[in-house]
Amino acid sequence: MITLTLKPGREKSLLNRHPWVFSGAIDRMDSQPTSGETVLLRAHDGRFLGYAAFSPASQIRARVWSVNEQAVIDEAFLHRRLQQAIAARPAIRHDAGQRLVHGESDGLPGLVVDQYGPVLVLQALSAGIERFKPALVESLRQLTDCQCIYERSDVDVRTLEGLPPQAGVLWGQLPAGVLNIEEYGLRMQVDVVNGQKTGFYLDQRENRRRIGELARDRDMLNCFCFSGGFSLAALRGGARHVVSVDSSAEALQQAERNLQLNGLDPARADWVEADAFKYLRLLRDQGRSFDLIILDPPKFAPTAQHVEKAARAYKDINLLGLKLLRPGGLLATFTCSGGVSADLLQKIVASAAVDARCDASIVERFTAAPDHPVALSFPEGDYLKGLLVRKAGA
Ligand code: SAH
Repeated sequence: MITLTLKPGREKSLLNRHPWVFSGAIDRMDSQPTSGETVLLRAHDGRFLGYAAFSPASQIRARVWSVNEQAVIDEAFLHRRLQQAIAARPAIRHDAGQRLVHGESDGLPGLVVDQYGPVLVLQALSAGIERFKPALVESLRQLTDCQCIYERSDVDVRTLEGLPPQAGVLWGQLPAGVLNIEEYGLRMQVDVVNGQKTGFYLDQRENRRRIGELARDRDMLNCFCFSGGFSLAALRGGARHVVSVDSSAEALQQAERNLQLNGLDPARADWVEADAFKYLRLLRDQGRSFDLIILDPPKFAPTAQHVEKAARAYKDINLLGLKLLRPGGLLATFTCSGGVSADLLQKIVASAAVDARCDASIVERFTAAPDHPVALSFPEGDYLKGLLVRKAGA
């Protein structure tokens, strides 16, 4: 096995069980490993640090499989890791959706597996996972009674790994027609082939439910609504009226179908195809106001380098959101940017409140659903953060 020796002092994060080795931390390599090959990591003084998957093109040059010197990184090893991830979740239900594997936090760096009823959707986001993909598919087949494993590795981060985008059936047959899942009694259609990401945003499940509980008799604005999850939860929870905004026509069509599917009153829902930044300004200029506003934008800061620009964008929508909020109203504001911490989000919203000339308090905090765990050694996994902010009364 090829050995990677780190520069002096660069073993520290690995000793803290963090799973990434950056290119700048490597002092030397015995020879050049191929993409996804398992390598042995040593500290500068020769101490064993772990086994990792090599990624020749990525800044994250190696991702740790194990820090146990006795471990053998093979198909059986990955099978056990998958087994552990699946065992940590509630039993698979064929009418529900859940994340079965959440990358680094499940000891499988770069692997995401979402289950929607009988279909598993797999994302291979690292060279190591790509190399073991056939074995992982075989194990998932054995460990679940899925009918189909569908790949959605058509995401930008693949290019950082030097891997081409890929999508399509890996095993089995995609059921004809649309896939339906149930989320706390709401039926939602999931388009695993054309939908965003793996087809649905499972991470917001518990937060959609919470908004449903808070929505009674409120006029709501849901920005970045995708397939309508927050809007439907609110309508079912007794919201008076919901305006939902997204820039994707397909997402809005899906949302309207989901509304129908649940027998909710279309007269209480407006669907708007628009750029939320522009639409929020339009609403402000029209003097509109709401009792409950959701801001769940896409990732503005994929990496730490984008944080400053992202912070301005978050500030902008939160300022507009706070202005559109009636006294006593609630703002549920989210960031799914790895580069924006909960602390930074709080600072951004605080400065938006100053500019909006209002008093407001955090009354709740949101995270991703429990099927998206965050390994203590991998704080980067804590990507979804949210605040529920109450604007002071008049
Ligand atoms: N809240 C949703 C998930 C939102 S994902 C849920 O619970 O399922 C982010 C959404 O923002 C996507 O649907 C994307 O189409 C939309 N989007 C991206 N940029 C946008 C923009 N500038 N204006 C409006 N919507 C945008």
